[in-house]
Amino acid sequence: MRKVIYPGTFDPVTYGHMDIAKRAAKLFDEVIFVVAVNPTKQPLFSVEERVYLLREAIGELDNATVTSSEKLIAEFARENSAVALIRGLRHVSDFEYEFQMAMMNYHLNPDVSTILLIPDEKYIHLNSTVIKDIVRLGGDVQEYIPAVVHRAIKDKFS
Ligand code: ADP
Repeated sequence: MRKVIYPGTFDPVTYGHMDIAKRAAKLFDEVIFVVAVNPTKQPLFSVEERVYLLREAIGELDNATVTSSEKLIAEFARENSAVALIRGLRHVSDFEYEFQMAMMNYHLNPDVSTILLIPDEKYIHLNSTVIKDIVRLGGDVQEYIPAVVHRAIKDKFS
């Protein structure tokens, strides 16, 4: 049973995140989304809301599960016997941060590999911040987020 962890803020989940998760789901037996509880960030959605929206988004992806954690991801991986971490790579600008994180995670847990996956080009320019801004201003983003996420963002701004 090869488990992989997909950690992130997911504020909120987009089809860009799901593109990466679907690729990981073909490579591993189980994909565990881990919503990071990071008190230094100020997300729009609570941890519980982000977990709920992810659970709605994974739909028919039956080898994916969702949880949250306040722990170091390297520690979470050890406790859950995960063999790797998945992260998405969109631009060269993502690379520097992801590379730094991968090095630090190797330091914390040498047994867990970091795998960087590239999404379909449709999602290369997509991130949760842009989505929130467009929904707030009434733009059409239905090809980038599930309807439940769209409604949740609208509710936040109403
Ligand atoms: P974090 O704060 O941990 O970067 P995010 O939710 O922004 O949390 O992103 C989690 C992971 O998903 C990151 O590796 C990020 O690069 C990746 N990701 C986010 N949006 C996309 C997208 N549109 N396509 C591919 N990967 C993405």
